[in-house]
Amino acid sequence: MGGRDTDLVLLDENGIRCDGRKIDEPRRIMIKAGVLKNADGSAYIEFGDNKILAGVFGPRDVHPKHIADTDTGILRCRYHMSPFSVTERKSPAPSRREIEISKVLKEALQPAVMLEQFPRTVVDVFLEVLQADGGSRCAALDAASVALADAGIPMRDMVSSIAAGKVADTIILDVNNEEDQAGQADMPVGYMPNLEKITLVQLDGILTQDEYKKCLETAIGGCKLVYEIQKKALTDKFFSNGESA
Ligand code: ADP
Repeated sequence: MGGRDTDLVLLDENGIRCDGRKIDEPRRIMIKAGVLKNADGSAYIEFGDNKILAGVFGPRDVHPKHIADTDTGILRCRYHMSPFSVTERKSPAPSRREIEISKVLKEALQPAVMLEQFPRTVVDVFLEVLQADGGSRCAALDAASVALADAGIPMRDMVSSIAAGKVADTIILDVNNEEDQAGQADMPVGYMPNLEKITLVQLDGILTQDEYKKCLETAIGGCKLVYEIQKKALTDKFFSNGESA
């Protein structure tokens, strides 16, 4: 994404990236489940400098009624960036980018959620980006998946997500904002770790076939790391304060 020419050193001679990470090192990831009292399920994620809240409501009655499906439940997803989430004020109205990401996230979550158990209902997933720093769709997907599990909605698997990409002709894990802007490729991936199925792949940039393969493998490896953190967020909730709530 963005310009390719920059004075920024994306990868130095020791293989260290612009934010001090190694090529296969993710940013710090922290997830907390069950943070919103009024939601059926919720999660808060800090993924590097991304800060995102996920709230899940449902399964509940569908409005407007004519969009209800008598055979299955439906999933709705809204990804929204708060006006203060980026350096320049962002209009609170949904942008084309937010509409696209909402659709992409819905499609990435759908294979994991057993919607067929809840015909005529809807599950709503709201994602509120408080602070964005590259890779916010992946972080949003991670939080959404934990929030769905927190809501007790039957799932085939978690969806774990992280991006891989290419900077200075090198495949890297977890692309930050500067790497996204000045790098050569950004590939967000969503993955169900137990079913070993991919639910999201996007690619911004150009890769050879070998690079594509390596990028996908790197991202899947990263998704497995994220999965452990998602599981911990849920066990922390249900085996500490969650049981007495
Ligand atoms: P993702 O956040 O999933 O990587 P993009 O590649 O579209 O999605 O965006 C990369 C980053 O660009 C975002 O995480 C955010 O930091 C920044 N960004 C997105 N939209 C805006 C905006 N309207 N104003 C300023 N920065 C933005």
